Amino acid sequence: MSGRDVRASAVDALARLVRDIPDFPEPGIVFKDITPLLADAAGFAAVVAALAEAGRDERGEVVVDKVVGMEARGFILAAPVALALGVGFAPVRKAGKLPHATHRVDYALEYGEAVLELHQDAVAPGDRVLLVDDVLATGGTAGATCELVRRCGAEPAAFTALMELGFLDGRAPLGEVPVRTLATV
Ligand code: AMP
Repeated sequence: MSGRDVRASAVDALARLVRDIPDFPEPGIVFKDITPLLADAAGFAAVVAALAEAGRDERGEVVVDKVVGMEARGFILAAPVALALGVGFAPVRKAGKLPHATHRVDYALEYGEAVLELHQDAVAPGDRVLLVDDVLATGGTAGATCELVRRCGAEPAAFTALMELGFLDGRAPLGEVPVRTLATV
C-alpha cells in the first residue's frame, strides 16, 4: 500500500470507530473514546501503520531510534508502532510509577499541575525519538515529553497522534518538533 492509501484507511477507521463521549471526565469535555477502534483488528492495524509513517522518510526508510508513548493510551499505540518500525519502545509515566532512576518534568494542566517521568536510560544520547499519543489537546503532555527526551540527551524527532483538537493550539508547546496527526477534530 502507498503512504497515501495507508493514511486514507486510517482516516476512514478513525471516522467510523472513534466515539464522542460528552461531559467525560467532567462537564464540557468531549472525550474521544478510541476503545471501539482498538477492538477492531483491521482499524487498529490501519492506524498503527499510519502513525508509523511519522518515523520514516519519504523513501520509507526508518529514521528514528526509539518510540516513546505517554501513559496511558499512548502506550497502546506506541508499542505496536515501535514494532512496525523495528525499534524499541519506552514508556513515559506519571510520577512514582517507574522503578529505576528517572528524569522528571512538571507541567501545567488546565487546572493544576502534573508530573511526567522517563527512565534516564530509556533513550540514549543522540537517539532520534518518535513521540506517540492518541489525542493532542493543549500539548502540555507532548511538550513535557519532549523535555524528558532532551534531558536524556536525545532528540524529539517527531510527534504523532491519531487526532488533534482544532480549537486548541496544541502544537505550540512542541515548538520546532514536526507534528503529524491523522485528523483534526
Ligand atoms: P494535553 O492537553 O495535550 O496535554 O492532553 C493530555 C492527555 O489527555 C493526552 O495524552 C490525551 O490522551 C488526553 N486527552 C486530552 N483531551 C482529550 C479528549 N478530548 N479526549 C480524549 N483524550 C484526551
